[in-house]
Amino acid sequence: MNLIIKNPATGAAIAELTSDNKASVRAKLSLLQQGQKEWALHPVKERLACIIKFGELVKQHGEELSVILTRETGKPIQQSRNEINGAQNRIDHLSSHAERWLRGEVLVDEGLTHEKISYEPLGVIANISAWNFPYNVGYNVFLYALVAGNAVLYKPSEYASLTGKQFEKYLHKAGVPENVFQCVIGPGDVGQQLLEEPLDGYFFTGSYGTGRHIAQTVAHKLVPVQLELGGKDPLFVMDDVADVKQAAINAAEGAFYNNGQSCCAVERIYVSEGIYDNFIDAFVAEVKTYIIGDPTNQHTFIGPLTRQPQIAVLDQQVTDAINKGAVLETGGQAMEGQGYYYQPTVLTNCDHRMKVMMEESFGPIIGIQKVSSDEEALSLMQDTDYGLTGAVFSGNEERALKILEALNTGTVYWNCCDRVSPNVPWSGRKNSGLGSTLSAQGIRAFVQPKSYHLRSS
Ligand code: NAD
Repeated sequence: MNLIIKNPATGAAIAELTSDNKASVRAKLSLLQQGQKEWALHPVKERLACIIKFGELVKQHGEELSVILTRETGKPIQQSRNEINGAQNRIDHLSSHAERWLRGEVLVDEGLTHEKISYEPLGVIANISAWNFPYNVGYNVFLYALVAGNAVLYKPSEYASLTGKQFEKYLHKAGVPENVFQCVIGPGDVGQQLLEEPLDGYFFTGSYGTGRHIAQTVAHKLVPVQLELGGKDPLFVMDDVADVKQAAINAAEGAFYNNGQSCCAVERIYVSEGIYDNFIDAFVAEVKTYIIGDPTNQHTFIGPLTRQPQIAVLDQQVTDAINKGAVLETGGQAMEGQGYYYQPTVLTNCDHRMKVMMEESFGPIIGIQKVSSDEEALSLMQDTDYGLTGAVFSGNEERALKILEALNTGTVYWNCCDRVSPNVPWSGRKNSGLGSTLSAQGIRAFVQPKSYHLRSS
């Protein structure tokens, strides 16, 4: 079966790729099983050199790659450029730290018995990925896995396959051997094929439903499983923010950047009652300034959704909220004409009976709720099955930290949001996932420790 790639801005088919099947997945896995052993013997420095070269090639071909990303996902071109340039920080960070993180450690070096640890790669790992930030979430996994000495069977999302093929092309050009990195193309049933093969680890980025299915299916293999899943990330805007208008502008960007299709997008906002009306006015005014349209135009901020079926999800959330008493301040429906466009939508007077406050929207819609105390805000922020990020905007660090320390999320933000850094781990709790990418912890995910007890007589 072939995979038809459509441009979300027009709905038109722009490419056709041959999908993988059971036989081709097996052949690629067998190739990688041979190559991995040799790859693991190279010093970290040499593996790193290939990754650095890969980064240079991506930079050199940045504009061409941005156009491909925009054509297949609908991401506004300036945001595609930002993503490609921004993801380079993973490579810079790895090149500064990976050798140290992967070096073995001597724990006891005196007396007769010596004790030390070495870090060995897992083997051939599956990297099953999402479409929304294919550079960021791909780099978080395959670059770290490769530097640690693993081979990678990479399955890009069916909505980011042209980009995935570019990763393969430039990794090979940069010196990562063909028997160390292979891309498999296709929708979910091709991903399912990977679950049935004897991979040495499963590293998944995507929705909670698929992540849970993967964890359940491969559980009997007793190999590492890492899941980077969705979120319903809250932002609380306190009444002591220095500038309500600026807080509203920043909050709106956190909610609407990449059309709201970010795992750590602001998905629900709580606002102290003292500034509620001013905040709503500024927020809605800001959203109304967004330029919506052709994602190849460099001034566009809101392009089409990547996936057409998401329109129905957003429609349901809007209708449900309005039926339960929310006020529609702007937007509220798909746009007429070609492409999968949805109006940036702001719902106020929201509460937790509404889907828009409880279920991941993954689109350009936001629910806002008034709160009368910090305690009420915290309790609402905690009322979720997810645990990816949580944010507080406040002029008072101590007051903000009281909330942030209590949140059961992998990441917290004070006066910022929707942000990822290679310096610190990226991890979800509860239905947002299992394990960490990035930082030293993100590379240790791709190795297994071996303990040596060495007695000299
Ligand atoms: P998805 O779960 O629909 O698909 C993800 C990948 O899984 C795709 O490659 C898909 O082909 C594959 N897949 C589907 N069924 C499979 C099966 N049975 N077996 C194996 N693989 C299968 O998710 P998506 O729409 O691509 O991504 C959006 C979701 O990802 C959102 O929930 C978002 O929040 C989340 N996400 C999380 C992070 C994070 O770091 N926490 C980052 C980006 C996206």
